[in-house]
Amino acid sequence: MADKRVLLDMTREELAQFLTEMGQPAFRAGQLFSWLHKGVPFSRMLNLPASLREELAAHCHDLPLQIHRAIPSRRDDTVKFLLACADGHLIESVLMHYHYGYTLCVSTQVGCLMGCAFCASTLGGCARDLSAGEMLSQVLLANGYLGDKGKVGHVVLMGSGEPLANYDATVRFLRLLNDPQGLMISLRNVSLSTCGLVPEIGQLAGEGLPITLSVSLHAPNDEIRRQIMPIAKRYPLNELMAAVREYVRKTGRRVVFEYALIGNLNSHPSHARELAELLRGLQCHVNLIPLNPVPERGLASATPQAVKAFLAELERLHISATCRREMGQDISGACGQLRNRHLKSEGKLDRIMESTDPRDI
Ligand code: SAH
Repeated sequence: MADKRVLLDMTREELAQFLTEMGQPAFRAGQLFSWLHKGVPFSRMLNLPASLREELAAHCHDLPLQIHRAIPSRRDDTVKFLLACADGHLIESVLMHYHYGYTLCVSTQVGCLMGCAFCASTLGGCARDLSAGEMLSQVLLANGYLGDKGKVGHVVLMGSGEPLANYDATVRFLRLLNDPQGLMISLRNVSLSTCGLVPEIGQLAGEGLPITLSVSLHAPNDEIRRQIMPIAKRYPLNELMAAVREYVRKTGRRVVFEYALIGNLNSHPSHARELAELLRGLQCHVNLIPLNPVPERGLASATPQAVKAFLAELERLHISATCRREMGQDISGACGQLRNRHLKSEGKLDRIMESTDPRDI
C-alpha cells in the first residue's frame, strides 16, 4: 500500500495547493485546515462533499496517530499517553495540569540518538524522526481526551527525541501550532529543550519564534558533562555557552537551564558555585530536577537535602533557580520510561535495539 499523505504536515498554503491539484476550489483549504486542526475525522467534516471526504480518506491521514493507551496518575492529574503511529511505532506524550492550565510534553522522535546516560528515551536508539503533523497530533489527541475539561495551552518539547536533531519538522510544527486558523497556541507558552546542538541553536535564534529555549546542562564543567552526555564531546561548554549567549542577545529572551541532580556526580555545593560562575551575567533561570532514577542506567537521584542545599547555594549567589515538581512518577513520567516498559513487557525492547525496521515494533 502506498503511504498515505499526512495532511497535518501541511501549511495552509500547501494544503490549498494540494486541493487545487485535486481539482477542488480554493476555499476548501480553509475548511479542511480548520477541521484537521480540531482533530475531526474526515467522516465528520460535514461541510465538505462526501465524494471529497471519501477521496481524502483513501489517500490521506486525518490524524496520523491513535491513543494506544492513556494512563492517568493516581497521585496527581498527570496522564501519560502511549500513542501508535500509522506505521506501528509507539511514542509517548505526557499531559500535566498546572494552576495555569494544561501542558503537554511532546515527543519529536521515535526514541533518541543522543545517548545521555540518565535518559530512558535513548536506550533503544532512534527509529525515525516524527513529522510536524505527528507532533501536532499529540496535542490534538490530548485535547480530544480532555473534552469539556479544557485544552492544552502550553507545550514543552521535552518528550522523547532531540528536537534540534529534527530541526525542520520541529520548526514547522511550532509555526502550525501557532496558526490563527489552527490551535493558535501562543509561542510564548512553548518551551523547546535541547541537549545543546550548537549550530542549530544559532539557526533557531534567527527564526523569529518567541519560544523559551531550555538547555539541558546537567553539569557545571566539561569533565562531568562528558561522563553523562555524549554531545559534550562534540560541543564543549565554551561553544555551547557562546551559542546560548548569542541566542539571548538576538532574541531578547531568557533561557532556561535544566540541571538533573545526580547523587555523587554533580550535586555538591561546590558544583553549584561552579555553575553560578558559568552562568554569571546571563539572562537565565535554572530548573533543578531531582533525577528520575532509571534502573537500566544505574544512576541515583541526589538526596532531598542535597537538592535543597544546591538550590540554596544558587540563590545565595543570585542565580534564579527553582526545583521542578516531580509529577507522574507512578506512571513512569520521565522521558521514554513508559514506552520502554511497554516494549519490554512485550519482549520488544531488545529487538528494537537490534533493528530499526518499523515492522519490528
Ligand atoms: N533531547 C532534549 C529534550 C528531551 S528530555 C534534551 O535533551 O533537552 C527533557 C529533559 O528531561 C532534559 O533536560 C533531559 O535531560 C531530562 N531527563 C531525561 N531523563 C531524565 C531523568 N531520568 N531524570 C531527570 N531528568 C531527565
